[in-house]
Amino acid sequence: MTQRLFKRLRRLPVWFQSILVTVLAIVGADALTFAFYWFFFQDRLLLDLVLTAIITIAVATPMSLVFLDQLTKLEALVSELRHASRTDHLTRIANRREFMSTVGPALLEVPDAGSAGALLFIDADRFKHINDTYGHAVGDKVLVALAEQIGDCIRRQDIAARIGGEEFAAFLIDADNIQAHRVAERIRTKVYGIGTRLGLSSDAVSVSIGIAIHEPGEDLESVLREADRSLYVAKNEGRNRIAANRILSSAA
Ligand code: GH3
Ligand code: MG
Ligand code: MG
Repeated sequence: MTQRLFKRLRRLPVWFQSILVTVLAIVGADALTFAFYWFFFQDRLLLDLVLTAIITIAVATPMSLVFLDQLTKLEALVSELRHASRTDHLTRIANRREFMSTVGPALLEVPDAGSAGALLFIDADRFKHINDTYGHAVGDKVLVALAEQIGDCIRRQDIAARIGGEEFAAFLIDADNIQAHRVAERIRTKVYGIGTRLGLSSDAVSVSIGIAIHEPGEDLESVLREADRSLYVAKNEGRNRIAANRILSSAA
């Protein structure tokens, strides 16, 4: 009942709510003053001060408690919504929006106009076939497992996100071509075990990975395009492999 009343009040314009609260406070304070003077009928300063304090406590305490309670609930809701707006609902890792808003500005803030690192564009191979063969629910489980494996292969400071249906991206901060290839190879190998682990065929799940090394001054859109081009090469060369926009030196 009280909850329903509160919900209705919250729907009113803020200025109206504020007037309502003020009127209530005045009515409450005046009612107490009236009751007090009805009994004592005296005009003493000390009593007046005590009375004011009692009135303020009696009126302000329950009101502030109610409003603080509402505020706390509101803050919890805002934080929940903020987290939800940055997270992919299925895999619980960052979503595309979070990836773009975190990595985008970071690329433009690199000191000495150096490279910010490497971007991996990771796409599940023949995912449509997985859905068609094992069902959409199993497809979802594979996506969750993919996100877990990618997360396990990167460092704490790197960021991984689900940027599309069966597409993931990872930005490896300060990584060079060799390090990027190492991480990509680790992801590719680990992912290959998902099929067996989920009771599908051993080669059911694989990924192709496109690598792009960030060039000084390059923005995220451009690095993503480069990584997408590399991914296209990896797919065309037969999938379950890695391709990069730079040739790997023999040190790898
Ligand atoms: P390729 O090797 O060329 O990448 O082939 P593919 O089948 O992975 O690519 P395609 O783009 O043809 O199909 C992607 C599939 O991913 C189609 C879509 O139904 C599926 N998919 C997208 N989002 C989800 C999801 O959230 N859950 C599941 N189960 N499937 C999804
Ligand atoms: Mg795919
Ligand atoms: Mg795709």
